[in-house]
Amino acid sequence: MLTCREMSELGSDIIEGDLRLSTRWAVFMHLRACPLCKMYVKQLKLTSEVLQQLPLNTTAVDSAAILKKLQERDN
Ligand SMILES: [Zn+2]
Repeated sequence: MLTCREMSELGSDIIEGDLRLSTRWAVFMHLRACPLCKMYVKQLKLTSEVLQQLPLNTTAVDSAAILKKLQERDN
């Protein structure tokens, strides 16, 4: 079983689907049991989708703009 700390370290790999099958399974099992990490991954996914939509270099992204986009999605 993965710990929450390990989940947060895997964050971007989870989003990119860049995981070995055994790791993916461990992540899946953890998400079933842990609402906090489920929320965390959901937020990460939303953020990465928004980042892909922005016509900016991701290194120059304004975090306020990302938050605004996320809030617009929730409405
Ligand atoms: Zn967790």
